[in-house]
Amino acid sequence: MKSVRGMHDQWGTALHQWRWVEAQIYRVLETFGYEEIRTPVLEHMEVFSKAVGEDTEIVEKQMYQVQDRGGSSESTPEILVLRPEGTAAFIRAVVEHGIHLQGGVGRYFYNLPMFRYERPQKGRLRQFHQFGAELILSAAPEADAECISLLDQIYKAFGLKEYSIRLNSLGNTASREAFKTALVSYFGPHVAQLDEVAQKKFHRTPLRILDSKDEKIQALAKNAPRIVDYLEPKSLEHYEAVKSCLKTSGVDFVEDPTIVRGLDYYSETTFEFTSELLGAQSALGGGGRYDGLSERFGVASFPAIGWALGMERLILALDQSGLLRSNESLPVAYFAPLGKGAFEKLYGMSVDFRRKGISVAMSYEKEKALKWQLKQADRARAAFAVIIGDNELAANQAIIKDLKSGQQSTIPLNDIEAELLRRAPK
Ligand code: AMP
Repeated sequence: MKSVRGMHDQWGTALHQWRWVEAQIYRVLETFGYEEIRTPVLEHMEVFSKAVGEDTEIVEKQMYQVQDRGGSSESTPEILVLRPEGTAAFIRAVVEHGIHLQGGVGRYFYNLPMFRYERPQKGRLRQFHQFGAELILSAAPEADAECISLLDQIYKAFGLKEYSIRLNSLGNTASREAFKTALVSYFGPHVAQLDEVAQKKFHRTPLRILDSKDEKIQALAKNAPRIVDYLEPKSLEHYEAVKSCLKTSGVDFVEDPTIVRGLDYYSETTFEFTSELLGAQSALGGGGRYDGLSERFGVASFPAIGWALGMERLILALDQSGLLRSNESLPVAYFAPLGKGAFEKLYGMSVDFRRKGISVAMSYEKEKALKWQLKQADRARAAFAVIIGDNELAANQAIIKDLKSGQQSTIPLNDIEAELLRRAPK
């Protein structure tokens, strides 16, 4: 049996690298004062259909559905979905727990697996992992700048250089309506030549035509109307202020009017971090402001902005630039007993050492030769081997062998603990 297509097991070196990457991200998030939140893997369907939008790729085609056994009322079986993205679930939790009523700015992050039924390829999976940050209850342009600068800081913390930040504004609802009308008259005659599905999609969500993969549309999009020319004065003022804050924070960006994002809930600032290192799937991370989303959960609108970054893609980019490290912790010592008496002695010591937090590896084969034991020590990548044979046992001694240099010395058994602690790699 194999794992589900587009969903992978994680182990060994790759997992150690993953955990190292996570640790660096946690450090930056905590420096910025973001607090972790975890939501369940399963949510009610409407969390996403309402918030992300019925006409989006995610809701239309990509959600994994699970039939609950009894439904929430334990009578009608309900369809639940595996979380395809983090923001809608986050706002569901915020509203459910009244976090938005606490006042002051709220800074949260998540580190969770997401599920989307997509065609798997390099950098595109069906179970993938996102870190996301959400800043709620501030409409200030500094909040937008903080959020973008935080993502920038995460990539910079690794020394990653090959990416660019693309910035756009979708304006408020009135700005978007005016812009949609302009798009419909610009693309209208050409859309008639597209297939029925594309036409329908265009009329329902004209903004997303700018995101189209169709080459003809992409060529046309180059001279299409630009949202910045349709921004209402308030939206324009906000956008200009965000740009200026980013400049003062030393964040380099380019303006890209095609960054419309694939989800319904965005307004005002949107952004995407892209990298040439990734090939076709060039998006490293992205997000935007979503001030109106809370209304879809039945409470008054409150300001919010956030982003999500893809772990698999970040790791690909780090690997390609030679920046990927690992936080593997290796055993300090491998215990190699030669004979039954020595085994009993070392076994007892291993229990005691582990209790004290000294990492010890040991094989439980009782009759193996030294050569075999040292091979195991090598495989475990221990720093030292502690060897006891009949002579050492009789003299209450042990050989401690540095497995890197090959140097060894015989010392009293009672000194082994102190010696390992003194010489353990820091
Ligand atoms: P989105 O929620 O679609 O804006 O995605 C945010 C980030 O998650 C993207 O920039 C990617 O880095 C990553 N991502 C999105 N979809 C996938 C996927 N199917 N497989 C791997 N990473 C993904």
